[in-house]
Amino acid sequence: MLNRVILATRNKNKIEEMRAILAPLGIELVSALDIPDLVDVVEDQDTLEGNALKKARYVNKVTGIPALSDDTGLEVEALDGAPGVYSARYAGEDATYNDNVMKLLGALSDEKNRSAQFRTVIALVDDDKEYTFDGICEGDITLDKRGENGFGYDPVFQPTGYEKTFAELDAAIKNNISHRGRAVQAFIEFLKDAELD
Ligand code: IMP
Repeated sequence: MLNRVILATRNKNKIEEMRAILAPLGIELVSALDIPDLVDVVEDQDTLEGNALKKARYVNKVTGIPALSDDTGLEVEALDGAPGVYSARYAGEDATYNDNVMKLLGALSDEKNRSAQFRTVIALVDDDKEYTFDGICEGDITLDKRGENGFGYDPVFQPTGYEKTFAELDAAIKNNISHRGRAVQAFIEFLKDAELD
């Protein structure tokens, strides 16, 4: 059973979300922020799986701690799956969350089909053992930004079955139904069966 993992990200929102999810399982989450030797891995793969595995392999190799990494994309039906694996850089290399959100709203300005899904791939790398877990959350892109919680595209993503965007929902509700939450659930199911030392 794993009792300690390192999360291959410097994103504080993600670290807090994942720490809250793993704490009840007795799994301590070490953050990449605590390990000064780590450099940022270039996310240059053309799939979410490729990027997630690349980050986890690197952090596992440097730290020797089983490494978890997630890569997420927002896949918009009317945009043929864009921004997808390029979600972080949709409005350019140094784009802010708000730049990306505004570009997305602009790209969908006259569009009636607002269907979209978040997809997260989590990779776990422990030496030569490698696993990936998928989570999807379906919803719609709203016409305007709503809410202050969360990060990224949360203000314009309304999950199916809810009247609120992710940024209007409590973090606990989002964690329960989100792409990342579901990928983590798949990871947890795996942990129950696996014998990782
Ligand atoms: P990453 O590759 O996992 O860092 O995610 C790529 C981009 O997707 C980020 O820049 C965020 O804008 C967005 N993103 C990831 N997770 C979420 C989420 O839970 N809500 C909203 N946006 C997210």
